[in-house]
Amino acid sequence: MDAVVTRFAPSPTGRLHLGHVFAAAFARDLARAAGSRYLVRIEDLDFGRCRPEYEAAILDDLAWLGLAGDAAVRRQSQHLADYRAALDRLQALGVLYPCFCSRRRIAEEIRASAGAPQGPEGPHYPGICRGLSAAERRLRVAGGESYALRLDCAKAAALAGRAPGFVDEERGRFALQPERFGDVALARKELPASYHLAVVVDDALQGISLVTRGEDLLPATHVHCLLQSLLGLPTPRYRHHRLLSNAHGARLSKRDGAAAIEALRRTGLQPAEVLALARSR
Ligand code: GLU
Repeated sequence: MDAVVTRFAPSPTGRLHLGHVFAAAFARDLARAAGSRYLVRIEDLDFGRCRPEYEAAILDDLAWLGLAGDAAVRRQSQHLADYRAALDRLQALGVLYPCFCSRRRIAEEIRASAGAPQGPEGPHYPGICRGLSAAERRLRVAGGESYALRLDCAKAAALAGRAPGFVDEERGRFALQPERFGDVALARKELPASYHLAVVVDDALQGISLVTRGEDLLPATHVHCLLQSLLGLPTPRYRHHRLLSNAHGARLSKRDGAAAIEALRRTGLQPAEVLALARSR
């Protein structure tokens, strides 16, 4: 059997809950079943929300649960040069453009143009900066304006041509529909990566062959696959799993205190009991 390298990639914006334990055990068990490796990656690029104390607590909970990774933890904030290199490559392909719009400007434009297409993360960026001239872009960047780098989705999809799509092991093959997100932001002036770019670069660099994650991220896989094709990276296999819910049927969140691993540990539960609880939800 091929090596099945999987990963669990939490963002240190809070403590772990049972949903995270389910996800980590899911990834770990598939790797173990294939006699292969399971890795842990800390996705800490959102500097405003991520905190070192959350990271320490997450790693402590994982170790306690027996769900620590099989190799050193990769921390995204320590690999900005890798994302910069990928960004430069996309830039050279001509599929990125600087977008100077504030959130407010985008919201106004969307309100004014009824019927803006909706993507999984909200309305598509309405393309205000897509058509700026090269001269205006240079001038505004040189003038110190802040900007995001957006993927020109139509141009990128045309360049990728008939990219092969991806396979979800539970749902089957998906044809690529990268236009579902519109022109996503892949970086900001002060940060050469966003989630979508970093996850693609990291999965390739870490040799992840099976990406397991919650089904809420299934739509994002279309964008990730397009980026893999543009960057000449392999497309792993995917397995999007169910999300755990709370007593009211809503998806578990960091606000569901009763499901927090910290709280469960304090009640005296043992790691195996917490794992069983996560699997039985
Ligand atoms: N860091 C993401 C999260 O905590 C997971 C991303 C992924 O697995 O691709 O939701």
